[in-house]
Amino acid sequence: MKTKNLPSDGVAAEQKQALELILGALRKGDPDKVLRLFLREQAQNLFPDDRRTLEWLARTIGRRPTARLVSVLAASPCFNCEYGLVGCDNCEDAGHFDDEFICESCLGLGRLPCDFCGGTGLASIDFMPLGLRLAVFAIRVKNAEKQFERLLQVPMPSAQCAVRAFNRRTDFLFALNRQISVLETTVGVVRNFVKVPHSLKGRVTRIANEAVRISLRGENKLASTVEAMLGACRACTESNEKGSKAYKLAVARMKYFGSLLQMHPRFKGTYLEHPFLSEAAKKQLQKKKLSARE
Ligand SMILES: [Zn+2]
Ligand SMILES: [Zn+2]
Repeated sequence: MKTKNLPSDGVAAEQKQALELILGALRKGDPDKVLRLFLREQAQNLFPDDRRTLEWLARTIGRRPTARLVSVLAASPCFNCEYGLVGCDNCEDAGHFDDEFICESCLGLGRLPCDFCGGTGLASIDFMPLGLRLAVFAIRVKNAEKQFERLLQVPMPSAQCAVRAFNRRTDFLFALNRQISVLETTVGVVRNFVKVPHSLKGRVTRIANEAVRISLRGENKLASTVEAMLGACRACTESNEKGSKAYKLAVARMKYFGSLLQMHPRFKGTYLEHPFLSEAAKKQLQKKKLSARE
């Protein structure tokens, strides 16, 4: 850090110039550029790259622009996918083989969560400046909660046509699963957070607990959505001729979704299972029980 050479106003001319570029990219709404510039300046030791980053930014550019910068970084998208989803290579996006066999990689849906971002659709945490990660997480959890509230209020999508109802419920399932994935990666990363300074431990725990609390409500909705998808398949068997392609596919899907719902734990081994969250939820419950006993 070049703090020693700073002029009396506390900011070196080079830093000022670099910050102006970043603020310009921020105004243009270009998160990629903001991130790239920020990391470059950190690599060149022009900006602090430890937990002082946030405080330094707030002091240098002001609280508002700092908050804006963090929220832009928190929302910056994954470069590998769209909204957390990629096509399925196994079935070439069809979701099934010959209308009779469901592709287990994508649960018969032709798309699956992107490995790169854990299905969040957001830039991986590895790309985030170290000193801003906690702030980014806190915002991601807050955003996920908002999205959750919205999704939990949405009545189960329906449609006159069974196929359309199935597709709409599938979109809903993916939207919900995406928000759960945001919370899960938060809990996962917060848990293994690189060198959390002691003073931040409380905050890290609070963020993780919050993520678990919100996600529990979403997990049940995942199951009821799959049930609704199964219902749409049933309607499909009723409206299509026995032995037709549409009929066969609907039967195969019903069987497959039925088996997913009966797994213990639910959705075991599939991308709808969120082991980090379940584990964290269990721990929270144990702690609550212990403290109630004390
Ligand atoms: Zn597939
Ligand atoms: Zn992705």
